[in-house]
Amino acid sequence: MTQRGKGLFGRHVWYKLLEGNMRFVQGLFQGRNLLDLRSTLAGGQEPEAAVLCCSDSRVPAEIIFDQSLGDLFVVRTAGLVLDPTSIGSLEYAVAHLHVPLLVIKGHESCGAVTAAVAHPECDEGHITAIVKQIAPSAAQARETGKTGPELVEEATNRHLQYLEEALKRESRIIAEALDQGRLDLVVAKYQLQSGKVDVLSATFFESF
Ligand SMILES: [Zn+2]
Repeated sequence: MTQRGKGLFGRHVWYKLLEGNMRFVQGLFQGRNLLDLRSTLAGGQEPEAAVLCCSDSRVPAEIIFDQSLGDLFVVRTAGLVLDPTSIGSLEYAVAHLHVPLLVIKGHESCGAVTAAVAHPECDEGHITAIVKQIAPSAAQARETGKTGPELVEEATNRHLQYLEEALKRESRIIAEALDQGRLDLVVAKYQLQSGKVDVLSATFFESF
């Protein structure tokens, strides 16, 4: 079995994902034999990264990073909001599938963030829970004086930062894996027009 849980390996997985994203940007998808893959993977999975991303139909992690069956363990919620089940899913990937990399991948023009900016007092079924979790980041963003799309992007960046802090605070499993160097974490943002994924922060960079 490939040695896992080393900081270096998490970084290598990230570079692999970046290479996949470059292929996606250029429209040069890697050909794969899905029938063979499906058959091989029926015996078990060993994904190389866990990804938390938005449910938005335009931002599927597997396509954006040009990955395939068995490569990524993906948790998707609108606006990437966290609850015990989504955190538990990420914990499962870290504790039992031993992924060396966790990616928080937000995106430009996020509808959930836009809703939290425009209607922080939203009261509509369980959608309220999504908006409420993003609303504090939207309120902080508003204090910068930005407006329109710039305000939405500021709120998105702050929400992504909040998600990193919340995961470390709420999940002992994730916090310990990070502390012990068994897990790397990348916070990134997907640009809808270019198809490019930009890094906002990464545990293997001193600063970015
Ligand atoms: Zn979104």
